[in-house]
Amino acid sequence: MAPAQTLETTRTDALNTNGNGTLKGLSTTEFDVLENYEGQYRFAPIEEAQVSRAMIKRYFETMYERAISDVVIVGAGSSGLTCAYQLASMRPDLKITIVEANVAPGGGAWLGGQLMTPMIIRKPADGFLREIGVPYEDEGAYVVVKHAALFTSTLLSRVLAMPNVVMMNATAVEDLIIHEDHKGQQRVSGVVTNWTLVALNHDTQSCMDPNTITAPVIVSATGHDGPMGAFSAKRMVSAGLLKELGNMRGLDMNRSEPAIVNNTREVAPGLVMTGMELSEHDGKNRMGPTFGGMIASGIKAAHETLRVLDSVTVVRGKVVA
Ligand SMILES: Cc1cc2nc3c(=O)[nH]c(=O)nc-3n(C[C@H](O)[C@H](O)[C@H](O)COP(=O)(O)OP(=O)(O)OC[C@H]3O[C@@H](n4cnc5c(N)ncnc54)[C@H](O)[C@@H]3O)c2cc1C
Repeated sequence: MAPAQTLETTRTDALNTNGNGTLKGLSTTEFDVLENYEGQYRFAPIEEAQVSRAMIKRYFETMYERAISDVVIVGAGSSGLTCAYQLASMRPDLKITIVEANVAPGGGAWLGGQLMTPMIIRKPADGFLREIGVPYEDEGAYVVVKHAALFTSTLLSRVLAMPNVVMMNATAVEDLIIHEDHKGQQRVSGVVTNWTLVALNHDTQSCMDPNTITAPVIVSATGHDGPMGAFSAKRMVSAGLLKELGNMRGLDMNRSEPAIVNNTREVAPGLVMTGMELSEHDGKNRMGPTFGGMIASGIKAAHETLRVLDSVTVVRGKVVA
């Protein structure tokens, strides 16, 4: 009988080893660690407070820094994430902050239609799959990704790896900051946030005041109407900046995808809208489980955002001219 294979490693990635798999620490302290899967695995020691402080320090430094952002993207579904990727690729200097209400980012793009796994994308939006490195089957006019989660997880990881992108999930946008700008017009100037679990309990608890993020451009990508969806479109109505919701119309794949992409725009000063939220805002058809429209709308939203940013003068996150 063959001897059990030893899995001890001699890792050298940025660490010193002493030759038998025992790793030396990176600082002056030396830790007795061992990556061994035959009953000898040993971790470096840690104190509970170190774990707490390692998280708190980074998270709250990020909140402090991003209280003024260059762009806030509300919603990390397929359109919001595509917008973040495109924007961060074109402008690595921008502070892009994504606020996502759910614990799990990705919105409705973890599955295709009727909870089935393949994801259909009409050409020419397949170019984005090549850009982010997602394989697919070519069916001529459209392509098929074997599992929607392959698209969403790849996009998510590409976005989060970008140094200028921050995502605050489990955080809901509860309201918009709306100021009168230098021209005397109402301008969306930031978002009002809260932990989602707090936002869901305003009816049962009192005095749970929110927080804010100031930014010259907000991209709203909150999807269909629902408990949190179509958030900014609905707020535009209640704030008097939009007469009424257009409401999503019946399914028409050939009409809806180009309509969403071509109408992705700054719907109110400082507010760019993308994805299925736009179908509620404008009253456009739904397209069913074909995702090219979400991708192309996200890309267009990134370009629209840059167009807005390039047309204004911003001081400490506020548009002043
Ligand atoms: C009734 C219904 C019909 C559908 N019809 C279609 C269709 O016709 N065509 C189609 O492509 N897809 C449809 N879908 C599926 C799915 O919604 C979309 O495919 C697609 O995921 C939409 O992408 P999106 O990026 O616009 O929004 P979503 O994927 O829905 O992402 C929106 C994200 O925003 C977050 N969010 C919402 N509000 C807030 C807030 N206030 N603060 C912070 N984050 C927030 C959500 O948690 C979510 O992660 C439908 C879904 C439903 C429920």
